[in-house]
Amino acid sequence: MPRGAVLRGRKAVHWWSDELAALRRSSCMARRRYQRAGRRDDAEGRAREREAYSAARKELRRAIRLAQIESWKKLCLLVDEDPWGLPYRVVMKKLGAKTRLPEGQELDIANALFPSRPEVTWSVGAAPAHPDLQAELFSMDELVLMASKLPGGKAPGPDYIPNEVAPQKSEAVVLTNKWAYRDPVFILGGQQISVKPSMRYLGVQLDKRLNFGDHIRLVTAAARRAVSALGRLRPNVQGPSACKRWLLMSVAHSKLLYASPVRALAAARAARNRVALSQAQRGAAIRVARCYRTVSDMAALVLARMPPAHLLADERRRIEERKQEPTTVAVIRRQEREATLREWPVIWDHTEKAAWTRRMIPDIKRWVYQPNQEAITFHMAQAMTGHGCFQHYLWKRRRAGDPHCMHCDEPDDTVEHTLFNCPFWAEDRREMEQCVGRPLQPNDVPNIILGPEQELLLDDASRRRRIEAMAEGLRLAFGRIVEAILGRKEDTERVRQARLLFVGRRPIT
Ligand SMILES: [Zn+2]
Repeated sequence: MPRGAVLRGRKAVHWWSDELAALRRSSCMARRRYQRAGRRDDAEGRAREREAYSAARKELRRAIRLAQIESWKKLCLLVDEDPWGLPYRVVMKKLGAKTRLPEGQELDIANALFPSRPEVTWSVGAAPAHPDLQAELFSMDELVLMASKLPGGKAPGPDYIPNEVAPQKSEAVVLTNKWAYRDPVFILGGQQISVKPSMRYLGVQLDKRLNFGDHIRLVTAAARRAVSALGRLRPNVQGPSACKRWLLMSVAHSKLLYASPVRALAAARAARNRVALSQAQRGAAIRVARCYRTVSDMAALVLARMPPAHLLADERRRIEERKQEPTTVAVIRRQEREATLREWPVIWDHTEKAAWTRRMIPDIKRWVYQPNQEAITFHMAQAMTGHGCFQHYLWKRRRAGDPHCMHCDEPDDTVEHTLFNCPFWAEDRREMEQCVGRPLQPNDVPNIILGPEQELLLDDASRRRRIEAMAEGLRLAFGRIVEAILGRKEDTERVRQARLLFVGRRPIT
């Protein structure tokens, strides 16, 4: 936060508190004392003041850091409770400020912009019979001339249209299951109302069969726009932690899950809607999990620990329905999330996509509730999806001439070959294999990544701690292997690409 911001009476950052303000005041006072001491010829006193100032400043910085960390944690928790609350506003602020009306003056401004006019009675029935009363039609040239006189970027001013039901602006939609029917004729104020295939009502696009296909198309487009705007703020390789990425992308969720009960209905109506929703979610999930953009929706959602949108929508519907129950909302939320985590694995087990990721993470529930969740890095995401610098993948995406391993005789360089079999990387695997006592296998990865199963842990506290510490050691060691191998493989690939000069081809990350 810029220092002057608070003094100038601007709105404080959302994590600011009275305690921080007091610390900041005392830090400023210490600074002034130190500066004044500089003018006196008292080296000892000056050193003392300097020490006091640096201590006060350090204390303030520490407090600010703590407040920021706490605030992130709170924001992350808030996302689930209120999709349009503080997290949404904080994130949307990153995308560009909106001008705010000065409070209390909204009515004055509205009155000045849209002065009230005498009520107009819309003519009903036939046009006036007298020829003198008929308005002359304007030509296209006249319209262009008038439009050219308007200054650029300006509204043309009050249009004298009173705030009433205007038949020209009214529209209707027919809700029906019938295939063969004739649109009815509606007359309002002597004018016929047009019948549309779909219509926006209270933020929901209603279509005539109540399939909500139009609505899904609109919200998924909005979510995609938000994701790509946020994606530009956040590079894949460096940038913020998974928690912050998740928070940023929760905006996409807020947009997708607007009017969730409707969404739940819509998803139930058509598989096409479910696919559209998870495709829009995929963009956000890919950003959260730092995957290649070719990763399937199923794999990206699991890596990002985001349940599919149609399950979330249904979860929100169930929570809404149960709000009258005597238990607290937090308990209901927890129970309904549990229910979602029972449905999600069914989808995961039956999908034909993400074969490798399913092998790496066979148990979604353990993955979602895993204690250490900061682990997914850009390279780890490649290891978990198989989409990365592997010749097999590059060849399939037409970025390499053949799938041969560049380091040994293996004809098919898959993620499995690179991480577990390729002799070229044997040295990197040695430490881990000495720990395990045998060569590493893909089937070891779930237990390494997800840690020991809680049910298998013993009641004996000290043994339990020992097992957990060992599991943590293995997890970190596996992370180091992945970083080392894929980091160097990426460098090799970069050299190869530069040599081949893939001019005009976009990189696929
Ligand atoms: Zn090899």
